Amino acid sequence: MTRSAIVLGAGMVGVSCALALQKRGFAVTLIDRREPGRETSYGNAGVLARSSIVPLNNPGLFAKLTSYLGNRHPALNLNWKRALTRPGWLLRFLWEARPSQAAARVAALESLTSSTVERHRVLMAEAGVPHRLRETGTLKLWRTEAGHAAAQAEHDFLAAHGIASQVLDRQGISGVEPALNPIFPAGLLCLENASVDSPGAVTQAYAELFVQRGGRIEQAQVESLTRIEAGWRVQAGAGVFQAQNVVVALGPWSMDLLARLGIDAKLDVERGYHRHLQAEAGARLSRPVYDVDAAYFMAPMEQGYRITSGVDLSHRDAPDNHRQIDQATASAREAFPLAPFSGETWRGARPTLPDSLPMIGAVPRHPGLWLAFGHQHIGFSTGPITGEIVAALVCREAPPVDPTPFAPGRYIA
Ligand SMILES: Cc1cc2nc3c(=O)[nH]c(=O)nc-3n(C[C@H](O)[C@H](O)[C@H](O)COP(=O)(O)OP(=O)(O)OC[C@H]3O[C@@H](n4cnc5c(N)ncnc54)[C@H](O)[C@@H]3O)c2cc1C
Repeated sequence: MTRSAIVLGAGMVGVSCALALQKRGFAVTLIDRREPGRETSYGNAGVLARSSIVPLNNPGLFAKLTSYLGNRHPALNLNWKRALTRPGWLLRFLWEARPSQAAARVAALESLTSSTVERHRVLMAEAGVPHRLRETGTLKLWRTEAGHAAAQAEHDFLAAHGIASQVLDRQGISGVEPALNPIFPAGLLCLENASVDSPGAVTQAYAELFVQRGGRIEQAQVESLTRIEAGWRVQAGAGVFQAQNVVVALGPWSMDLLARLGIDAKLDVERGYHRHLQAEAGARLSRPVYDVDAAYFMAPMEQGYRITSGVDLSHRDAPDNHRQIDQATASAREAFPLAPFSGETWRGARPTLPDSLPMIGAVPRHPGLWLAFGHQHIGFSTGPITGEIVAALVCREAPPVDPTPFAPGRYIA
């Protein structure tokens, strides 16, 4: 009998799960209310972040908290009213930042990011979009002399994890990115990162590959999920779909569906914004740059230079708050010759668990129900390995990395 699976959500995570299950012989239906890759997997900075192995809530967060709490720093906007309606989540997020947890969480993230570039390289070649991959690293930049020590410390930390980077001074920075204005005395070239020029188009290309290989995509709003004798029934739009296995990969909307099954996955979101600006006078960047003190990425994209903002801890569906992206836009124009902004501001939400690790695996007491969400800042990078982990677990094979740190059972009883 053909094994069957339904994957809910066609962002990078869901599409990757669909491809990995299909590779193992499953008949897979992928359901999304939009076209593939139109939400969070569209709006990110497109970085394949091999070096992103430190969770946002790391022990260093406590030293920065006072500068963040007044909601003036571009790195963080905290909606206090919202936070106080869910104090348990915020306290747990802070509690997870304690030093005793740091090494295990770094190891867990590293297990996900270590193969990110390699996995995307293979998939982009198979999907016919290898030209979208830029293996030119990413560049981290500091605006003050204190950046020299910070860059060196990060270089040493990454080297201890076998990740190559290069500390740069002002001259070195202008050597690799001559069009940047000389406002950065220190930098770190993260040599093992890569990037793409359109994360949405890459996700779409992977979805097309899935269809070429016989996969089925349904565009419909998922309304409900019900356990039946033979597995699971999904009501989506006017359609009803059944399969032995269901993977919930609805990104920042995953909790909505699970709540209807009485499951609280402890998922929340870190909102973020982006804008596209055009370079002036033929200026160009060869890689995404991250301005540490001003807390934004500036990434060369098909549509122009994409400026992405820091973290906005507000309700997922609350109206936009443009404070951070306004600050980021102004800072980016100090760093690089960009025309004034005109156009639309995109808003998305990074799905986040309190320990900043994704939820990948089986739901206790719900056979055939699998979760794949909560990839916060690295879900575009780590979608493909997530797909491989899920598919291996479904097939009771050994996954490519130890899935224990990502087990849903850590939050779901
Ligand atoms: C500003 C910003 C910058 C980022 N930069 C990076 C980066 O450089 N590198 C990186 O690796 N990551 C980055 N990320 C994080 C990354 O984008 C996310 O972790 C990742 O895209 C999550 O993918 P996903 O598939 O889980 O979710 P999504 O891409 O959001 O996919 C979820 C899908 O579910 C669908 N859906 C939801 N509810 C329903 C429903 N009821 N019925 C049907 N369909 C439904 C949605 O339409 C959507 O397509 C960034 C995020 C942001 C916000």
